[in-house]
This record gives sequence, structure tokens and C-alpha cells, in this order.
Amino acid sequence: MTLRSAVCFFAHPDDETILAGGIITLLARQGVRVQVVCATRGEGGEVGDPPVVPSRELLGAAREAELRCAVHTLGASVTVLDYIDPAVGEGEVLHPFAVAFDTLAKQFGEIARHYQADLVLTHGVDGEYGHPAHQLVHWAVLAGVPAALPETLVYTVAARVPSIEDRLWNQSEAAHLALDIQPWGAAKVGAMLCHVSQHALFKRRRGLQTVPEALRTTESVRRAWPDTHGEPPQDAFTGLLREAGAWLLE
Ligand SMILES: [Zn+2]
Repeated sequence: MTLRSAVCFFAHPDDETILAGGIITLLARQGVRVQVVCATRGEGGEVGDPPVVPSRELLGAAREAELRCAVHTLGASVTVLDYIDPAVGEGEVLHPFAVAFDTLAKQFGEIARHYQADLVLTHGVDGEYGHPAHQLVHWAVLAGVPAALPETLVYTVAARVPSIEDRLWNQSEAAHLALDIQPWGAAKVGAMLCHVSQHALFKRRRGLQTVPEALRTTESVRRAWPDTHGEPPQDAFTGLLREAGAWLLE
């Protein structure tokens, strides 16, 4: 099988860039049509410091524009769904967006079928750092996509890479492959620069002075479907990644 079409399901603007910006760029440059599907406009997120929008009501529209800039920079296309990202609660409590699980799973299956996806990328089982909206998207993809397209490869991104201290995400799932994305790093930094409202957050999280310093240079993936039964996956996506220099972790 040759990869022709990939669909990436994420919860918020900037997830596509931070978690998979290098791999999305690689896929696009290899001639794979990549569609990024973002469930919300991230209207519950930060408005920037100093604020980039005059009022919180405008944040969703601003972040949608940032997302379009970023995805274009990565060489992909974007679909924004109309779910509402709830504001971060007291004590930094995070919430998923409101939707019936079965409805979301069916919608993801239909979108994957519409784009005739050979490959689907999505959030990891832990929602990277426990974000419930990321976990909701993860489970809805795994419920909806194989039901609609049983042959389609489903991979999670940001899986754990034990040799890399920086990778503390998705502790429950070990990566099958990791890739040094620096050859595609300029595009990923360009996409990070599009997400202006999140720049303060990118820097603050790791105590950095500039946005490019926040570039995560290793991206990792784990095949979630079809089950590999404990074996390393071997498919069209792993072939493409290995040619790009990715290494197997098991
Ligand atoms: Zn997110």
C-alpha cells in the first residue's frame, strides 16, 4: 500500500504543530494529502500575555486563523469542527468539550471515509499529560475509524520514548518509532510562530525566552490499529518514517 491520504484528529489548535508538526510536514512533502481535523477552536485557552485579542469572545476566531496559518505552513489542509472548548476551571482543572461519545466516533469515521484515509494520526491514550479533551478524541477515533475503515492505519503521536528525558507524555504507551524531525524543523517552527496567542504558554512551560527554543525535535508514534500483538509494526507509514531516519523502539 502507498500512503495517499492522512487525516489527523486533534482537540485544539496548536496540538497538530506541537505533537506532530514534523511528521505532518514529512508526509506532505512525500506527496501524502494531509487533512488536519481540529475538534474545537481552543476558545477556552489562553488569550496571550500580553493579550492578542481584546476580549475572550474573539479568542476562538483568532485561534482558528492561527491554526489555518500553521497547517498551511506544514503543507496540509484543515477542517475545524464546531465543538466548544470549555474554559480551564479553578485550580487549572481541564475539561473535555461537550458531545455524545457515539456521535463523535461516528463523525470521525465519516470524515476519515470522506478523505479515504490510509493513515490516521491522533492523541495518545493518556491525552499526553492527562488532558480529557485529548483523551476523548483518542477514544472516539479508535471507536469510529476502524469501524468505518478497518484497513486504515491508526497511530497515536507523542508516545513515550524512554531515552529522551524531555518526553514525559503518554507514560502508559511506549512509542513504536521515534523520529528526529530537525530536517522539517523550520516548517514546525514556522507553524509554532503562527500560534501567536499561545507563545507566552510555549515559553512559560519550559522557562524559555523565545518560541523557536520550544521546538521539540523528537516526535514519536505508536500504532493503535491494527493491533501489532506486541510486534514492531511494519506498514507503509513505518516504511516512510524509517526512510526518513526514524528508529524502532521495540
Ligand atoms: Zn490540546
